[in-house]
Amino acid sequence: MSEDKVIVANKGMVRADFNFWVGRYLDKFLDNLENKKLVGNKCPKCGDVFVPPRKICGKCNITIPIDQNWVDLPDTGILKNYTITPYRVNDRTDRKAKDLLLGMIQIDGSNTAIVYKLLNLKPEEIKTGMKVKIEWAEKPKGDPSDIKGFVKI
Ligand SMILES: [Zn+2]
Repeated sequence: MSEDKVIVANKGMVRADFNFWVGRYLDKFLDNLENKKLVGNKCPKCGDVFVPPRKICGKCNITIPIDQNWVDLPDTGILKNYTITPYRVNDRTDRKAKDLLLGMIQIDGSNTAIVYKLLNLKPEEIKTGMKVKIEWAEKPKGDPSDIKGFVKI
């Protein structure tokens, strides 16, 4: 007999809390966040640096060994792109009075971009190419929210 559960929703939102294993690469990344440190990993063939770290370089199609090629990265980066939205990221039903500013940030020394909130900025102050810095959570706990967002430097 199957133990599968089927959730059927006719209207409204369904909230499903769950835990999952993020894998060894992201686990190491999150462990470092807890200490307010940013790490990525580097493809041994092309030299691209990934944040968050990846198991496989998509460009070279090779596995980056888990025990090698880790790179310590600074908490600074460049704003590559951004968007302004009245919605919260995880809840499209809730319009906020204040717009949410989301940026794609390329951490210095890396070749990828991560998406986080832009803090303490007005929409008209945001420009692609501007230098930004991580605003860390007061009490990091080893998850993506340890980075509260990025501020202008
Ligand atoms: Zn590569």
